[in-house]
Amino acid sequence: MILPPATLGMLGGGQLGRFFVAAAHEMGYRVWVLDPDAHSPAGQIAERHVRAGYDDYAALDEFAAGCEAVTTEFENVPAGTLDYLAKFIPVRPAAAAVAVCQDRIAEKSFLRDNCLPHGPFAVIRSDDDIRRADAALFPAILKVARFGYDGKGQATVGTREEALLAFGHFKGEPCVLEQRLPLDYEVSVVLTRDENGEIRCFPTGENRHTRGILDVSIVPAPAAGGADDGAAAVAARIAERLGYIGTMGVEFFVSGGRLIVNEMAPRPHNSGHYTLDACVTDQFEQQVRALCGLPLGEARAHSAAVMVNLLGDLWYDGEHYREPDWARLHAVPNLKLHLYGKHHARPGRKMGHFTVIGTDAAGVQAVALAARAAIGIRDQ
Ligand code: ADP
Ligand code: MG
Repeated sequence: MILPPATLGMLGGGQLGRFFVAAAHEMGYRVWVLDPDAHSPAGQIAERHVRAGYDDYAALDEFAAGCEAVTTEFENVPAGTLDYLAKFIPVRPAAAAVAVCQDRIAEKSFLRDNCLPHGPFAVIRSDDDIRRADAALFPAILKVARFGYDGKGQATVGTREEALLAFGHFKGEPCVLEQRLPLDYEVSVVLTRDENGEIRCFPTGENRHTRGILDVSIVPAPAAGGADDGAAAVAARIAERLGYIGTMGVEFFVSGGRLIVNEMAPRPHNSGHYTLDACVTDQFEQQVRALCGLPLGEARAHSAAVMVNLLGDLWYDGEHYREPDWARLHAVPNLKLHLYGKHHARPGRKMGHFTVIGTDAAGVQAVALAARAAIGIRDQ
């Protein structure tokens, strides 16, 4: 066990890293953050911000010398970086598990090879792969295999011709071509697995996306008792097969009443932010516990919760850039506001979120959606 006041390392300085730093501080640890961005949200509050790239081996040496264990909040950390650090200190999750989650081709192949539910897809490495793809995949979505997020690196394609065009736009990057599924709704499971193989799943939430970005998470999932009943079991099987240690998120579609794995994230997940305010232990404290070899905490929700993401769009009133009217949110009972300390708001950039908690799920949802409208988020 790694106990306080040990120093922990975090690769990546975004909001997920920032919440990890806060949780670790609360528990008596020190944290170093490695991130190239001078203004990184996590770097701002860590004991030390090592401003370097993930492939800067001199910086990694320094990091390994100063930290007792290291984890990641950024799924695109090169596997080589994790493998290198693992020569000196524990790295959780391991490079091999992260590698599966950071490449859609590896991810889909993993699901197929382990008989886990996934949608129809084809691996696309050349124009010929598109010409050969099963006609039943169309209408489809072409997704770059690596470095996509929040709907970026994706194109909806109705036909083979459109897929060829989109593949050209992606400059021939390896892709997966997925059948576009009619979605009943989407859910996700955030869980933590420790070094002994013990798994704690947080309650399944329903997620609503706007323009490919998570907008609202509702817990318990209103459709609970439906097709998403098995989601926690499937997510746990994924974590086991990956030999995963740490907190991870698994996104699911429910399509035609069937549960289908969409994608996995080898880190805490945006849809798990509700755990900060509604669970006995939150997803970031669990990440600290798994990293340090502590027993996992209770993942039970003590409240119903609705989380609403606050994107940079909110800072723009037409052409005019201004701070949103936070006082309106602070006036709402049982609403907890979290802002990530990002320097500049850009449309689509995740700047913060709020969560409304309470005992009555329908009431919580009504309050959260009213607060969402009051702060100026419009339905698209
Ligand atoms: P990201 O890495 O950006 O989260 P996802 O693959 O999760 O990428 O896609 C973002 C959203 O786009 C999904 O949550 C879902 O709403 C929609 N989407 C993605 N793939 C499909 C699909 N095959 N069929 C229908 N909708 C999809
Ligand atoms: Mg997703």
